Amino acid sequence: MSPTTLSCPTCKTTLEWSDKFPFRPFCSKRCQQIDFGGWAREDFAIKGAALVDPEMLDSEQLSKELLDAGLIDPDLLES
Ligand SMILES: [Zn+2]
Repeated sequence: MSPTTLSCPTCKTTLEWSDKFPFRPFCSKRCQQIDFGGWAREDFAIKGAALVDPEMLDSEQLSKELLDAGLIDPDLLES
């Protein structure tokens, strides 16, 4: 019997719904955090729109905001 498979929402890699992939439905912790980061960014942009010009928010500043808020892993910023 073959295990249930699915696609990682972030990178579309096929993975198995099993203990081999503890971060399922994501293939890895990195993809999980990327997805969450995207969500947080959207949320931040919506809230921030009322307060500041969105064009003033560059990605570096936003990353720092998220980092300071403990929403993202510092390792994620090192590429
Ligand atoms: Zn992935």
